[in-house]
Amino acid sequence: MKIPERVAWWAGVGAAALAFACAEKKAEPLPMKSTSPAAEETATFGAGCFWCVEAVFEELDGVLSVESGYAGGEVENPTYEQVCSGRTGHAEACRITFDPARIGYEKLLEVFWKTHDPTTLNRQGNDIGTQYRSVIFYHDEGQKVLAEKIKKELDASGAWDAPIVTEIRPFTRFFKAEEYHQDYFRRNPDKAYCRAIIAPKMEKFRKAFRDALKDERPPSKEELKKKLTAEQYYVCVQRGTERPFKNKYWDFKGKGTYACVACGRELFGSDTKFDSGTGWPSFYDVLNSDRVTKTTDRSHGRVRTEVSCSKCGSHLGHVFDDGPEPTRLRYCINSAALEFREKK
Ligand code: FE
Repeated sequence: MKIPERVAWWAGVGAAALAFACAEKKAEPLPMKSTSPAAEETATFGAGCFWCVEAVFEELDGVLSVESGYAGGEVENPTYEQVCSGRTGHAEACRITFDPARIGYEKLLEVFWKTHDPTTLNRQGNDIGTQYRSVIFYHDEGQKVLAEKIKKELDASGAWDAPIVTEIRPFTRFFKAEEYHQDYFRRNPDKAYCRAIIAPKMEKFRKAFRDALKDERPPSKEELKKKLTAEQYYVCVQRGTERPFKNKYWDFKGKGTYACVACGRELFGSDTKFDSGTGWPSFYDVLNSDRVTKTTDRSHGRVRTEVSCSKCGSHLGHVFDDGPEPTRLRYCINSAALEFREKK
């Protein structure tokens, strides 16, 4: 593991504003299931105010989701007021779901330790109390061994002037904070706290971990020419149509999601796939309406509604209004435009 440099930049800017970050918090209990599917793993960290922790981890490539909540306490279904009293034993924490094939737990640990001050006991800047402690809740023996090993190495390296006080303890339960706190930075970029505190932190974080971030830039045609097969390129870029019944997913029944083969944005879920008899994979809905763009296609002497990926513009197929309930839509999509991701 790459040993982090000093983290003063982070700890310094984080201090003052963390105090008012919590002013409007409430908690909603959501017990966590202890089992993690093999294709996904979970990490749970506390490193001060969860708004900042969440904002950081959400940008890492391979991180599938981040939730803000409370962990490590004795009180069942704690409220925000209870947690803030410091008497519940809970820490503000983030539950991070990640794809271990794309980002390792070790990398998450590096980000964790580099983006807060792990040497101040029960404190991040001006936020003081056990709820702001630096803590790793490990989910299995492998996470525990790795966390303890790296903590020891960091201490020995002298990366910080004081000893690391990060607590490493077994995960028990996670209580999700109310919806208002989820994706706070992304949803409230203009709030004073976000502009003054989180944004500058994120700028530094993005510089330090440039190579580990999600790529939000859509691929260029040249990149797609290299990346895609001839048929995928024909469908996605040249807006072609593959042959029915002779494609990868028309009768495929795996459980998971279908992503854009060009840019990776997840578009359709297997739970909305149905057999339309057309010989192309058909779905009655998209994962989110903003994942696709619909335009009028007047080619071949017909008027149809073309469906494209809203991130990269790749042609996917067409949508018709002869599908099943509840939408009565039929998204008729080329297999060559899709990449299936299994969910176990
Ligand atoms: Fe795309």
